Amino acid sequence: MKILVPIKRVVDYNVVVRPTLDKMKVDTENVKMSINPFDEIALEEAIRIRESGKAEEVVVVTCGDEKCQDVLKTSLAMGADRALLVECNKDLIPISVAKILKKISEKENPNLIIMGKQAIDDDCNQTGQMLASLLKLPQATFASKIDLISTEEIEVTREVDGGIEIVKLSLPALITADLRLNEPRYITLPNIMKAKKKITEKITLVDLNIEISNKLQVLEIKEPEPREKGIKVENVDELVNYLKNNSEAM
Ligand code: AMP
Repeated sequence: MKILVPIKRVVDYNVVVRPTLDKMKVDTENVKMSINPFDEIALEEAIRIRESGKAEEVVVVTCGDEKCQDVLKTSLAMGADRALLVECNKDLIPISVAKILKKISEKENPNLIIMGKQAIDDDCNQTGQMLASLLKLPQATFASKIDLISTEEIEVTREVDGGIEIVKLSLPALITADLRLNEPRYITLPNIMKAKKKITEKITLVDLNIEISNKLQVLEIKEPEPREKGIKVENVDELVNYLKNNSEAM
């Protein structure tokens, strides 16, 4: 059994993002970049399944420029067996990523694809659903628990509005990871050293015979309006009074 984990390189969640001077994109120069947190959870789950003896190989793939090597190295240090970099210097929208990942899936033939439910930079929450649809695979999004019943079937607990939903899927299938699925492990120094010996394969869009067109044009990126300073009230009466007299500010 092989598990494919698509990962995205994003600005670290601790960084306060700023637009570039031309206001056309988010400044990613000289800021800490990391694996998208939901992808880290997806990878942790894939590694746990392999460690339980139910899978033989975990392959990570990212689509982006050469700088993405750092997140691939981190994934290998976490425990992935192999890493693929699909080299692309253009901005990618979810449908483009899904088309690339479709080609990679056809090449790798994984029994299971586990990916993040959304990337924290674009907050799209689209790529997994699009990829499942392009590959005509059953999908379970927002997974908070995964039970591999056999090599044929998998049970997934999903976080939905009304509570939780448990679904059974036949393999191959695609799952997107939610926050509560697991807590990713810390990377140890020996594993960082071991990761250096693991291979990252580079693939070009020409190899995949794919052309990317971007139908989305970003017009402007700006910071949200600063919030007005809050006030502290001593009691409920004071709060009600304040709300009455400042209703237009609400
Ligand atoms: P999104 O639909 O953009 O919110 O992304 C959902 C998931 O798609 C992410 O959590 C990743 O698993 C995957 N993904 C998005 N962009 C990329 C990328 N450039 N390379 C690899 N995987 C990606």
